[in-house]
Amino acid sequence: MDKNALTIKFEKDSSDDYFDLENMLIHCGTVDKKDGEEIMFSILHEVGHFLSYCIDPELGTAEDMDTIFVEITSWIYGLDLAESLGIHLEKRKFFNYAQCSVRKYIKSLNI
Ligand SMILES: [Zn+2]
Repeated sequence: MDKNALTIKFEKDSSDDYFDLENMLIHCGTVDKKDGEEIMFSILHEVGHFLSYCIDPELGTAEDMDTIFVEITSWIYGLDLAESLGIHLEKRKFFNYAQCSVRKYIKSLNI
């Protein structure tokens, strides 16, 4: 595997979207339940995790409350990335999707 390349793995069954730093792999789950735009939002967010890590490697290993910060930061980096690539997206839909994901994330932490 090219260590400078990010690979995206699309899966139907895995419910999680996550960035696997060690393998430079983005897992995009439940692709059968997302529309094309939602898949793009997820990918932008996971690349946002990579960008967060590049900017501050400490953020890549943060836990709990810090991780909520990283979650939100990664959504913002994803949005910045879309803008710098000239990808047009509906910001309202993007923010709704991001907000939903962050809520789900916080719920899963049981804090
Ligand atoms: Zn995330």
